[in-house]
Amino acid sequence: MSTSARKLPKAAAKWTSTDSAELYRVDSWGAPYFSINPAGRVVAHPVDDAGIAIEVPAVVAEMRKRGVELPALIRFQDILSLRVRSLNEAFSAAIAEAGYAGRYRGVYPIKVNQLHEVVDEVLEAGRQFGLGLECGSKAELTAALANLPDDETLLVCNGVKDQAMLSMMIAAQQLGRNVLPVIERYFEYETLKRLAFSKSFVPKFGVRVRLATSGSGRWADSSGLNSKFGLSLPELMRLVEELEASGTTDRLQLLHCHVGSQIADIAVLKQATREVTQIYAALTKRGIGLTYLDVGGGLGVNYDEGHVSDDAGINYSIEEYANAVVFTVKEVCDGHGVAMPTLVTESGRAITAHHSVLIVPVLAAQSRDELPTDSNVAADAHDSVKGLAIVLEAIPGLERMRELLEAFHDAKERQEETRTLFTLGYLTIDERAIADQLFWSICRQLLGRLTASIDGAPPPEVGEIEALLTDQYLCDFSVFQSMLDHWAIGQPFPIMPIDGLDVQPERRGVLVDITCDSDGKVSQYISSHPDNSFLPLHEIDGSAPYYLGFFLMGAYEDIMGDAHNLFGRVTEAHVYADASEPGQFWIEKIIPGTAVQDMLAQVQYFPNDLQRRMSEVVRGKIQAGVVRPSVGMEILDQYMACFQQSTYCGTDDFEQEFD
Ligand SMILES: *Cc1c(COP(=O)(O)O)cnc(C)c1O
Repeated sequence: MSTSARKLPKAAAKWTSTDSAELYRVDSWGAPYFSINPAGRVVAHPVDDAGIAIEVPAVVAEMRKRGVELPALIRFQDILSLRVRSLNEAFSAAIAEAGYAGRYRGVYPIKVNQLHEVVDEVLEAGRQFGLGLECGSKAELTAALANLPDDETLLVCNGVKDQAMLSMMIAAQQLGRNVLPVIERYFEYETLKRLAFSKSFVPKFGVRVRLATSGSGRWADSSGLNSKFGLSLPELMRLVEELEASGTTDRLQLLHCHVGSQIADIAVLKQATREVTQIYAALTKRGIGLTYLDVGGGLGVNYDEGHVSDDAGINYSIEEYANAVVFTVKEVCDGHGVAMPTLVTESGRAITAHHSVLIVPVLAAQSRDELPTDSNVAADAHDSVKGLAIVLEAIPGLERMRELLEAFHDAKERQEETRTLFTLGYLTIDERAIADQLFWSICRQLLGRLTASIDGAPPPEVGEIEALLTDQYLCDFSVFQSMLDHWAIGQPFPIMPIDGLDVQPERRGVLVDITCDSDGKVSQYISSHPDNSFLPLHEIDGSAPYYLGFFLMGAYEDIMGDAHNLFGRVTEAHVYADASEPGQFWIEKIIPGTAVQDMLAQVQYFPNDLQRRMSEVVRGKIQAGVVRPSVGMEILDQYMACFQQSTYCGTDDFEQEFD
């Protein structure tokens, strides 16, 4: 495996889209929603119709035509429906196969993506399956409550709840809505009891338990006995005794647990389900009127299948997940002879991740400065510089691998020497610049020769030279706004060019963003190359824009982003498939990104005040004769125009020459 990427046919066979699909592992994370067509363009398949394939570059072109500046997010709204359907059909099939005597009622946890259009789309697709919502804060509760389509739709309320929230939930029950507060802390139960007394209305509710089973990897802290969520078993038993004492055992209707997001191993889910079902069975036998068993979220997404150990992948399908829940609950219930509960899951990531793609323009690529072919090293140059020139000239005549490696070792030593000499004042700045160019030219030529002459495992120097020759691609986006989980918990996301994929990407790139933060970069990539510290990319020559697609961005990333450097939300376009439209799609809505003035207002700078301050400066300079009045006014206009602009570099100036 370690040499497979190096054996990619250089000149042998023509590079095709299929090679790119393998290189970027599109099938592992994208199927069946994304693929690459023979013309080398990324296509989306957002509906269950093999005849529909939407070219992502065509969507971008349409957005540009409508004046949308990049970076921008494309939401393939139809994919949300497909995901909702897959999940529900998987549970229906599992229930039928197991002979499970109960129903499935999923709820969508809106914290994963609260955007109104996303929630609406999910609810609408879930209507026929009785899909409900889950909220975890006061703001989310306020949004969800008004968006429940009817009295049957379940709203599960997790999170820490104050009196106002609990009171609102009771009020919703009084209205006949199916809203269940889930007790996470014992004090919430006490507040609930007090409110019930004052309102003379005894509400139904759920309880979250802290399991011994814990998740794994990045999201493990949401579970286990030390988790910050849920009641311990002694607390649960205390609650049960209180209910028995007050004759309200029928009010506790839902038992909830959540092992953490992105469960990598299905065995963990089975174990948690088994544990919580044992608790369900015990309480049911004691006469508690539980009707719902909620196993939480955690249904994972394959960001990078095959790298399961570092939790970017999962070892199961949606079908296997549904089977695991249904069969495990049935087995435990059968064992105890108790009735089977209505099953609830709170899958968020698995519903929303696939539907959105972030399109990011590359502003510039910086590669190592090699020596221009027509330049010569001056005859009076320092010996150390001439030494490098001699190494370079000798490369074409070298035959064996050993000689090539020796040339590399030589060049490294001499380059270090030139740096030391410069620091000590023995080398001019021009000589130092030429020495650097010579070194990069040597590396480039040696790499070509070495990769051509290798069969078998490459020597470590090849990796070293490749790493030295990695290019930096400056991308118009902010990691902190659009990909926070990458920075915070090292989560990898699939990234690849959206066009030109029938041409072999021959450069090694690392992506850096436009924030003034050295952490503003992508540090791990998904490709078939064994080294994931870079992304294979095309050389860019500035003759056409180069767009990268960042995939599986729909879960969490939209909302977690922060305002580092005052970069705001990106513009987004909501796209639907339609076979009768040109390109088989239409853009239903464009939501403009945050303008400079909106970001400024968040930190208490306002246009009026800024304008007043700036015009005072300009007026002073006009009076002092530093600028003519007309120039001063032009400068002021220019300043004022910034308020409406996008916080990103924007594609308009940059692309003028292409449009
Ligand atoms: C975050 C969260 C979820 C969603 O988890 P996914 O892994 O996105 O499905 C569900 N339930 C609770 C309690 C959560 O905190």
